[in-house]
Amino acid sequence: MDAFTKACAWLFPQYCQLCAQPLSGGQQVCAHCIKAFNGINTDLEEDLLLRADIQRQFPLRYIDSLQALDWYRPPLSTWLKQYKYQQRMYRQVAISSLLSHYFAQLATQPSWHWPHLVAPIPLAPSRLVWRGFNQVVRLWQDALPPQLFVTNLLERHHSTRAQARLGARQRRKNLAQAFNLKADVHNLDIALVDDVLTTGATLDSAAKLLKAAGARSVSAWVVCLTAKT
Ligand SMILES: [Zn+2]
Repeated sequence: MDAFTKACAWLFPQYCQLCAQPLSGGQQVCAHCIKAFNGINTDLEEDLLLRADIQRQFPLRYIDSLQALDWYRPPLSTWLKQYKYQQRMYRQVAISSLLSHYFAQLATQPSWHWPHLVAPIPLAPSRLVWRGFNQVVRLWQDALPPQLFVTNLLERHHSTRAQARLGARQRRKNLAQAFNLKADVHNLDIALVDDVLTTGATLDSAAKLLKAAGARSVSAWVVCLTAKT
């Protein structure tokens, strides 16, 4: 194997990341594993906030409905970390293919409707420079139908301290007026997308702003929910 082939194999392995079956065509999870993936919403609820266990854990006041692929646990927790912090792009391809299948299934439900706009929670400017790009955009853009373009609807207007080290109350305080809205959202259905929902404070404060600006509904779509221990 020459160096170039080795590099390609490292960047984009040629086997399923769940069952190790050989794959071609740039896929990272085989069709069987995509179908068999057992995530958080096996009953295909149109809104995870209808589940008492989830509603109790995430007191989201401004979010009308919630979707998540799984709890924050392997393999997705590992894949997300390797994508975000080690730039393993093939992990993004794998996560996006699972998300894509999940939302395609949700969309077969009679009550389902796609939102008008899909928007990521923006990163603080300093973190954006460090990581180079908003990885959440890539994750979701590859997962959703092509007509649903992930749009930067919100921007942070001052540097917010890294959220991970703060408690829920401090997060809310820190987030008050953290965002600017860049477009008219009057009467629109918006989906806010993120990778991991921890307390929900960030999503809720963004949703509050969108509702105040006249949005008809705000959904939150995340890859993983962090279970409270
Ligand atoms: Zn497989």
